[in-house]
Formats: sequence, C-alpha cells, structure tokens
Amino acid sequence: MAARGLSGGLPLFSFKGIKVLLHWTFLLLPAWIIGSGLVSGEPWSEVLAQTGLVLIVFVCVVMHEFGHALTARRYGIRTRDITLLPIGGVASLERMPEDPRQEFWITIAGPLVNLVIAALSFTAIALTGISLFFSDVLLGATSWTNVLMFVFTANLSLFLFNLLPAFPMDGGRILRSVLSMRMSRERATRIAAQVGRLFAVGFVIGGVFLGAPFMAFIGVFVFLAAGAEARSVRQKALLEGITVGQVMRTRFWAMPSTARVQEAVDELLAGGDSTLLVMEGDHLRGLLTREELLAAVAEGKSDLLLNGLPLRQPQLVAPEASAHQSYQRMVLEGHPILPVVSHDRVVGIMELENLAEYLQVMQARSGRR
Ligand SMILES: [Zn+2]
Repeated sequence: MAARGLSGGLPLFSFKGIKVLLHWTFLLLPAWIIGSGLVSGEPWSEVLAQTGLVLIVFVCVVMHEFGHALTARRYGIRTRDITLLPIGGVASLERMPEDPRQEFWITIAGPLVNLVIAALSFTAIALTGISLFFSDVLLGATSWTNVLMFVFTANLSLFLFNLLPAFPMDGGRILRSVLSMRMSRERATRIAAQVGRLFAVGFVIGGVFLGAPFMAFIGVFVFLAAGAEARSVRQKALLEGITVGQVMRTRFWAMPSTARVQEAVDELLAGGDSTLLVMEGDHLRGLLTREELLAAVAEGKSDLLLNGLPLRQPQLVAPEASAHQSYQRMVLEGHPILPVVSHDRVVGIMELENLAEYLQVMQARSGRR
C-alpha cells in the first residue's frame, strides 16, 4: 500500500535512503503464533516453522512496498519510510502524484513485485521437476520445495488481494487513477471510495461469518481510510484556484519585541492567540507560541524583553501563493501557522484551525447548491 501519513516504529534498516520501521503492533503477530502454539501444545519446531513463514511473507511485503517507493522516486517523489503493520506494509510517500498515470504506475508496481516473486518461485519449482500440489502447504513447510510452494502461493495471494478495488488498497488506487484519466480526480475518488466502502462492508461480514478476525479488521480499516481520502481530495478541490490571501486571517496577535514577557502573558490571559508575532516596527522578528511564553514565566523570565527569548524563525508565505500548496506544507512540515508577508510587511496569518473553518463554510455552501 502507498499512503501519506502514519509514521513511528522500531527502525529495522535503511535501503536507498528509505527507513523500514516495525510498528509495535506488528509484534502481536509472532506473539499470537507462539502463544497459540504453546497453548495447543505444538512442538517448538512447528511454532518456529510457522514464525519463519510469517517472516517470509513480511520480506515479500517489504519488497512490495519498495516497488511503490522506488517507482515513486523515478517521478521525484520521496518516501519518508516504510512501516510494517500486522495487516501489511505502508510506504509513506511525501505526496501522492496528481498525474493519474504516475499514480497508476506507482501503485501497480507493488503488486507487480509479488507477481514477479511468484513467477520466479514457480519457475524454481518447475525446474526442480517436482509436481505442484497445493494441499497442506502452510502446515508442512519442512522441505525447500514446500517453502518455495509457500512463497509462490503467498505472493500470488498478495498480488490478487492487493488488486481488489477496495480503496485505499492498491486496487482501489488503480481504479481511481484509471477513472481520473476520464473524469475529475474528485469524482473519481468519490466513486473509488464508494466501491472501497462496499468491499469493506463485505470484508467485515465475511470476516464475521468465516471467523476471520483479520479480514473484519482490514474491512474496518478500509472503510475509515476510504472516507479520509475522499475528504482530503474534496478539500483540495474546494481550495483549487484559491490563494493564501483569500483564506488568511487579517486579525492576528502581534507585539513589539521590546515588550516584556509579562505584558505578553497579560494579553494572552485577556484573550490572546495560540501564537504571538514578535515585531520590530513592521518587520517580523519571530514567533512565540503560547506554551513557550508560559514556559518562560515558569522559568522566572517574566521581566525579560520578548527579543531576549529564543524566537522561532517562521516559514513565510506570499498572499498570491496557492492555498492548497501552503496547506500541504503546513501539514507536512508541521507549522500550525504561516505568517503572510507582502512587500516585507506582515498582512495576515494562515492558520490550520482557521482554514478548517473556512473549508467547513465552503463545504456547507457547495452542499446547498
Ligand atoms: Zn501496495
């Protein structure tokens, strides 16, 4: 799967500058196998063999994710990391391409890796001249042929499973990219997300009836993720062609750098903002957050001048800049606000919270139409 967001976990290794992280929930999987094996009194060798098979699957999952990440790199899109979860891997791309053709190739590259591994293991089995048999592949992994058989079936399943059009699984993204070649990205996403939700409900019902909790779990995940993706694309469509100047707040909290910390705290208590712009005349010297001000008071610096504190040097944005690109920058780089500067003067601030309200208003208006 290729997605934005989600990070954190135990770093395993790096390849071509991409970190591979193990999310802590992944440890539940071997723990569950070992635990249930011990409870049912299986021999250690059997438990180890099963754990080994799970590890093989996850090596294939990592290669699948590198399929996405290295294809994205060809289009100049970096991957922050690859995280392994018990339900599979996630390659966190810094952004998703807008070009449907690029999205198509980045997405299909993952499942294609599994198809290639399946083809290679099939060839290896065929070359060793042993006939194929599918029974007890999972349980009887004692010989190399059986391991090869397992690699073959696992990768064929990974290939087919990922191609299910359950957005945001790979198949759903492929569906969206193919639809986007014929209609707007927003409409394509809406259709793909609806198909994804349908599959998700199917997974949950199937998981409950077949007694497969993982399947139901994936269903819930797909359902939530499909909604989130549809929302983010809708936000982008709403912000299309809108500039920072149109969404910025023109009323903001600013004080001269020669004011004392105590004065700033007094204003904060009287109804200040989350961030203070520290000014030198018309020039912006830097930013102080509410937390930083309160911390300064706690450290007994109330009598200090504001320019005596370490000020944050903010990223600036021009009023003519694209609202959506600035929004993405704020989310990705973690800026709660961006001062808007025109001709060296601060004319407003772009704030995530304020932008969310703006989007709600826009959405309410377009919903009524
Ligand atoms: Zn994938």
